[in-house]
Amino acid sequence: MKITAVETLVCHARMRNWIFVKVVTDQPGLIGWGEATLEWHTRAVVGAVEDLAELIVGQDPIRIEFLWQMMWRQHFWHGTGVTRSTAISGIDLALWDILGKVHGVPCHRLMGGPVRDQIRLYSHLGGGNMEQFYETNVDNAQQFAELAQKSVADGFTAFKSMAVPPTMPVEGKKAVAAAESCVAAMREAVGPDIDIMVDCHARPSPAMGMQFAKALDPYGLYFFEEPCWPENIQSLADINAAVTTPIATGERMTHLAQFRDLFAARGCEICQLDLTHCGGLSEARRIAALADAHRIALAPHNPQGPVSTAASLEFGFSQPGYIICESVHNDVPWRQDIVDEGFEIDLATRTVTPGDRPGLGIEINEEEVNKHPFEQELPQRVFYRDGAVGDW
Ligand SMILES: [Mg+2]
Repeated sequence: MKITAVETLVCHARMRNWIFVKVVTDQPGLIGWGEATLEWHTRAVVGAVEDLAELIVGQDPIRIEFLWQMMWRQHFWHGTGVTRSTAISGIDLALWDILGKVHGVPCHRLMGGPVRDQIRLYSHLGGGNMEQFYETNVDNAQQFAELAQKSVADGFTAFKSMAVPPTMPVEGKKAVAAAESCVAAMREAVGPDIDIMVDCHARPSPAMGMQFAKALDPYGLYFFEEPCWPENIQSLADINAAVTTPIATGERMTHLAQFRDLFAARGCEICQLDLTHCGGLSEARRIAALADAHRIALAPHNPQGPVSTAASLEFGFSQPGYIICESVHNDVPWRQDIVDEGFEIDLATRTVTPGDRPGLGIEINEEEVNKHPFEQELPQRVFYRDGAVGDW
């Protein structure tokens, strides 16, 4: 069997261009689907997939690890940069999809699963609607409370909010008080049994991240995400050690050695590796093994398109340390038109049971994808009140 082509299909989904990777083989009808979505880097990733295709076209698609090593180590530059690691990930996911189809089993069975009966989904406030999630102002605690109640009414038992505003490296009490008001309002609105998460998007400095973490610690957050830049591993570790709330991070890390350093410093309790950036299922399995050794849980980053979700679920059904799957369902109204998914979601509880379709269990409707060609992603730019550049 041989790979005959590696193609990309770009699907504009408002905030993101979903980049689907299609690996075509010389066997009639046998193709694999992957995803390599990287916001604001769409053309670069499409080009990177094209560069990598030269290494693997003509090769046997089921030699996944051999091909992964080729993509990561050949061409001299290792796959550590996010553009190349995302391209490698998209191709790797498609190769696992092919391997599942060859053997007629879902990917989680190829990896020794299922290890659990169901996976819990968590939502973003607004279900993935960009404005509601990213632009609800922290001065409006009531709106946080109302969106939280809507998530629970939609069946979710866990949801994530962005209740920490952009902050200058050092600020007075106002920003921390605003974040605390939002979290208090959400807790009041949904009660003690619902899991609330706060994503800082690495907006705070280590000093401010520490202040936010300590202020929100009494509210029993399920996790507190990216309280400072991922480059500041020791600061993440300091914050993680200072509070009982589990610190989560890892979505911007692209390879095993970065996770090794993060885990060794105990920079988190929850590892948010992204299957579309960290080297696909091949590297994710190595990262998961390392996380297991540290008893660090897995909650992959997954706000992208449907192939990423399918991969995250297949991974979750094979990994003992996996605790929850990030999901969005309200980013674009036609999300379900472009994909046919093999897993079952119980909408009353927002839990997923595994399917038995081979590979990643999905079909992408290329005709529907082609209705949404590339457009420049909507700009998301943050400036502090003095005009200086901040983190989104
Ligand atoms: Mg995040």
